Amino acid sequence: MKKIQMVDLHSQYENIREEINMEIQKVLDSCAFIKGGKVNEFQKNLEQYLRVKHVIPVGNGTDALQIALMALGLKPGDEVITPTFTFIATAEVVALLGLTPVLVDVDYDTFNISIDAIEKAITPKTKAIVPVHLFGQNADMEAIVQLARKYNLYVVEDACQSIGSEYTFSDGNCVKSGCIGDVGCTSFFPSKNLGCYGDGGALFTNDDALAEKIRIIANHGMKVRYHHDLIGVNSRLDSIQAAVLDVKLKYLDDYILSRQRAAEFYDVAFENNYYLETPKRDPKSTHVFHQYTLKVNGFDRDLLKTYLESEGIPAMVYYPIPLHLQAAYKNERYKEGYFPVAEDLCSKVISLPMHTELTEEQLNFIAKTVNNFFD
Ligand SMILES: *Cc1c(COP(=O)(O)O)cnc(C)c1O
Repeated sequence: MKKIQMVDLHSQYENIREEINMEIQKVLDSCAFIKGGKVNEFQKNLEQYLRVKHVIPVGNGTDALQIALMALGLKPGDEVITPTFTFIATAEVVALLGLTPVLVDVDYDTFNISIDAIEKAITPKTKAIVPVHLFGQNADMEAIVQLARKYNLYVVEDACQSIGSEYTFSDGNCVKSGCIGDVGCTSFFPSKNLGCYGDGGALFTNDDALAEKIRIIANHGMKVRYHHDLIGVNSRLDSIQAAVLDVKLKYLDDYILSRQRAAEFYDVAFENNYYLETPKRDPKSTHVFHQYTLKVNGFDRDLLKTYLESEGIPAMVYYPIPLHLQAAYKNERYKEGYFPVAEDLCSKVISLPMHTELTEEQLNFIAKTVNNFFD
């Protein structure tokens, strides 16, 4: 059996090697490394896939989040509500811009931002909500959009883990992740569901004026060369990454299916394991399984992780510490115990190998080994 990886980029590359190499070679031959036609081609193809008016490619997902907040014109002191159970980038860019990250608890079942917690955290200074579609399943966007309308707030979706997933509103309208709020952000980090071979990211929006502003900000605040109308940043996707992404975009739906099949295999394997809770699905969202995350009850999660590793099965804890207990983000407001759900999850969660190339043999071995631990 092939060695089990958390994310097996190598096996995936082997299957598309010729196409990828050919497309990279074309970029090398053109020497149009920055702002080449390949970036525009990928942008157009992604717009079509997402059914969104504008995709603006940038350097990485963190930049995308930062640029989104800049383009919305948020000012120091403005409050931005975001979950405490997530990757740090979300709160980091808020803090970097001098805005105030207002952390809130999450929902135990879905790991996503709690709607009640959002409403309780809204103050006259609140300007935006940044939901994170954690592990590949959309947050409760219908409720979030309603809250945003009621309190006149922007919604910036962190869709770094959820590209390709779909959310269905109660009127039947079905929208791709990241294309629901005012602006969505994604990352093309290699291990993400649509990953390049370096760094990359993008913003999505249906708002023409906002798209224009985002493009200007991502390009040193200039529209006409050497005329700087806004304070901007330098953030761009390069042509080699765009070439890789344009190939992989064609396979994204197949990749999603492979992940969903692996997730279903795990679900069945752990159905009768008293100590494990398998990931709950929100009927309003599809789940693209950036991660397959179990909750371990009544057993030491870290012992399970060590045991799996000793059997040659990598496992990861996303995330061991909530943002409100991180040294850089500690403040008077957030004491230990303040966000009980997130703290509980941090002690319980474990993510199993999840990628597009898991074989039946590997899945069987992983499931059997996990269940053996509890016998
Ligand atoms: C990966 C990720 C980011 C950051 O993306 P980079 O491309 O690494 O900057 C932000 N938010 C979430 C939830 C992520 O998973």
